[in-house]
Amino acid sequence: MSRIAVVGAGYVGLTTAACLADLGNEVCVVEIDQEKVRALRRGRLHFFEPGLREMIERNARAGRLRFTNAYADAIPGAEFAFLAVGTPEGTNGEADLSNVQQAACSIAQNLGGPLVVVNKSTVPIGTGDVVSDTVRRFNTHFPVEVVSNPEFLREGSALQDFMKPDRVVIGAHNREAAERVAKLYEPLQSPVLIYNLYTAEMVKYASNAFLAARISFINEIARICERVDADAKRVAEGMGLDRRIGPHFLDAGIGYGGSCFPKDVKALAAIAEQYEYHPELLHAVMDINRDQRTLVVDKLRECLGSLRGQVVGMLGLAFKPNTDDMREAPSIEIGQALLKRGAVVRAYDPAAVEKARAIMPEVDYRRNAQAVARGADAIVVVTEWNEFKQLDLHRLKRLMRRPVMVDGRNLYDPEEMRRLGFVYRGIGRN
Ligand code: NAD
Repeated sequence: MSRIAVVGAGYVGLTTAACLADLGNEVCVVEIDQEKVRALRRGRLHFFEPGLREMIERNARAGRLRFTNAYADAIPGAEFAFLAVGTPEGTNGEADLSNVQQAACSIAQNLGGPLVVVNKSTVPIGTGDVVSDTVRRFNTHFPVEVVSNPEFLREGSALQDFMKPDRVVIGAHNREAAERVAKLYEPLQSPVLIYNLYTAEMVKYASNAFLAARISFINEIARICERVDADAKRVAEGMGLDRRIGPHFLDAGIGYGGSCFPKDVKALAAIAEQYEYHPELLHAVMDINRDQRTLVVDKLRECLGSLRGQVVGMLGLAFKPNTDDMREAPSIEIGQALLKRGAVVRAYDPAAVEKARAIMPEVDYRRNAQAVARGADAIVVVTEWNEFKQLDLHRLKRLMRRPVMVDGRNLYDPEEMRRLGFVYRGIGRN
């Protein structure tokens, strides 16, 4: 059993805290937002992540997990402090490290003994040294080691990803500190890779950039497929069975979004530019992704002509299924483009309506897919929630004023859709 502080009660912080508590550790989460802490103490979570609320509740009840706004409650007595604060996009695409700096400073001011600071936030290469320097500047009494331990969890399957990781990456200048962190992960029986600090920090950016590149790659292939009458979905299937390629992240569609890929690819490009290297491929990945978002709007215009006064329904709002996260969700850009062109926009999402309403109050939010379809001139599939895969499409079509369906996630079979009488457009398949 170890005593652990987790700084930041977001997706990464709460998942880390709940899982480490579940493994038998004593965990205290320190979060600056008072409202979040109040809610957590009452067993409420400010976002949706399958199974997380229940795991938090179980461990809080067992006395292994607690929440506070005060570093003085969390840091003295802790052997490890996990940093899981946000690192949003800065003004020029670089990662904004002010939360990390602030947290490092607060930790240093509240030290009660030696500590290992474990950085889970995604940060530019060398940030471990910045954290070390900051802590040393505000504390001269106790030895503090900084270890990088990037997080690879996916929202929607965060608990599973934490408990059964493909690998755990740890980086440090001090091998002994790295091994102490590795010991926390021993119960998971997953491969643990110990590298130097900079390599560990780089593994995270390189992994996200590679996955984003696969998405932009297949989206570029999809654009070519449409021109040569090939089917991008089948092309991806045919490629994915090649073991050198593999099937993941080869879904042509609206492109990547969310709180990580967009900002991390941008931040990696900014790091490269800082070192006077122009990362050509990363820029192409970002350009393709940007254009992919508006492709569905172009397709709608192709089918409907002018969008002015047309009722367009969006199925799905969250940046991906099984989450209510709206950060950098393609639905925002699509919704705004539709509104700008004078369309009447309706939407439904199984989890993200509340968050979407705060961002796009002009949209008419409905209770289900049928209510979106009733009297609509077109539907655009934005997020590939499972429930959209099971829709009674025959009924849906009968509810619509005009049977136009732009399937931004290639959920449906083009031939079947035409047989049902839809004017159907997928991505990369005619
Ligand atoms: P988040 O915005 O959901 O949560 C961050 C939390 O930290 C917020 O609640 C915020 O109030 C709190 N915070 C900010 N400054 C603080 C401070 N000084 N002291 C205490 N609390 C503070 O962010 P997230 O999605 O959990 O991401 C955290 C980090 O992990 C980011 O660097 C992100 O890139 C990385 N990451 C995220 C994911 C993901 O899927 N969300 C996956 C892997 C890595």
